[in-house]
Amino acid sequence: MSNSSFLVPLFIDGQWIRPQGLDTTPVHNPSTGAVIAHAPVGGPVEVDAAVQAAHAAFPGWMETPPFERARLLFRYRELLVRHFDEIAAIISREHGKTRGEARGDLQRGIEVVEFATGIPSLMMGETLENVARGIDCEAIRQPLGVCVGITPFNFPAMVPMWMFPIALAAGNTFVLKPSEKVPLTAVRLVELLVEAGLPKGVLNLVHGGRGCVDTLLTHPLVRAISFVGSTAVARHIYETGTRHGKRVQAAGGAKNFILVMPDADVGQTVAGITGAAFGCAGERCMAGSTALVVGEASKRILPTLVDATRAMSVGRTDLDATQPDMGPVISAGHRDRIFSLLAEGEGQGARMLADGRTTRVADAPDGFYVGATIVEQQDPVGNTLMREEVFGPVLSVVRMDDLDTAIELANRSIYGNGAAVFTRSGKAAREFKHRIKAGMVGINVGVPAALACFPFSGWGESFFGDLHVQGREGVQFYTQQKITTTRWFAEGEGDIWRK
Ligand code: NAD
Repeated sequence: MSNSSFLVPLFIDGQWIRPQGLDTTPVHNPSTGAVIAHAPVGGPVEVDAAVQAAHAAFPGWMETPPFERARLLFRYRELLVRHFDEIAAIISREHGKTRGEARGDLQRGIEVVEFATGIPSLMMGETLENVARGIDCEAIRQPLGVCVGITPFNFPAMVPMWMFPIALAAGNTFVLKPSEKVPLTAVRLVELLVEAGLPKGVLNLVHGGRGCVDTLLTHPLVRAISFVGSTAVARHIYETGTRHGKRVQAAGGAKNFILVMPDADVGQTVAGITGAAFGCAGERCMAGSTALVVGEASKRILPTLVDATRAMSVGRTDLDATQPDMGPVISAGHRDRIFSLLAEGEGQGARMLADGRTTRVADAPDGFYVGATIVEQQDPVGNTLMREEVFGPVLSVVRMDDLDTAIELANRSIYGNGAAVFTRSGKAAREFKHRIKAGMVGINVGVPAALACFPFSGWGESFFGDLHVQGREGVQFYTQQKITTTRWFAEGEGDIWRK
């Protein structure tokens, strides 16, 4: 579908368009470093056209019965399943995920579509008879209007699908602005939605960076904004959007802790930690980036963990043939940032137990590779690698004396996305679950990412807003309640003019 001269199209008012004269940004295949397409940088003209199209389509879509809106999503789900491997290959090619990780990315998104097909029940209101004598009260949910989704590079399918399936099912129209680093997956997701029968203007796709986003944030016809990305941008989106009267949900970055108790099963714990720290090359908001190993756990677990890390294969993910354990990171700039954070952390006293900086992939010398890396921390509070979100395959390990001090250390983080504990003790797990300051908790589960019917429940600086994406909170976010209070009179009753 793409080559180095391929210009990624926008989708506005039911038309695929390639406006001439816009700046573009290159889209890479991170496995080889090659440019595979160019994404146009949309400006106020393109953004306004997309918002106007969504605004014009809203009355008709809102009046479409929920069962009919759900039927669009049933057809969409079938198409996504039919094109599953093809979409996974696009994700691997423009993002660098292994094929298994790409399939997981898409599968999580499909589950949100499946959840959203339940909209006739999910949107049901409530009534109470006789709130006062002869008076009844009813609450219904109605859609908001034009909603916007701004998404990061790291889950090209799942994160956009956290948003638009629920928003559309609820009767809203939508403008999607995916990451300029992975626009090809978004194009394919929209093409299949069109094939499923999407009416004109109900969903529109624009590309671009800050200028494009700021136009969306301040556009008077936009009612709600869903954002997922880094914390600095999430804060900007939340502040600007709410200042302009929009409803905003903005998920940010993370720093997730995995606590290992001395009684934890070695094999399961090592598999859980390597999966959490190095899966998706560490480019996950739920990545387990710090392991706090309590007491004897360091002796029992660490040697096996280091061996397993050193044994991880790294390579190209853009070929259909054998897939490695880990693919590249998203860009050369991101790889260099990871290297510079590692140098800084090392300079501050972190000790390399497994060093991925020397990793080379023979058949792809220009790919953006970082091997799986473990550093042992002497200064768990001051070291940069303990505070900053690295967003790469880097695990910090800290030896801790007991459960209490480990929980205290984890709770110092400004973030609060996820946290996990590995133990055989119900008591230790219960203590951890109760006291840890994180919105998604894993007990013997390394990546406790909430699935479609639950909110993706980040705390602290991992989330700005009131209602998270997905689940019932997602439905609440994309709807507003109308409360009707009703009293009926009998003929002539209370009619003072007739008396
Ligand atoms: P990013 O913040 O750089 O970009 C996210 C989106 O915002 C993109 O569409 C981008 O074009 C746009 N953008 C970038 N800079 C902007 C600016 N200054 N003003 C307005 N818009 C801007 O994030 P990324 O690098 O694409 O993704 C990685 C980040 O996303 C990580 O921090 C990760 O933790 C986070 N993330 C969080 C969750 C979550 O649920 N909390 C899930 C996935 C990813």
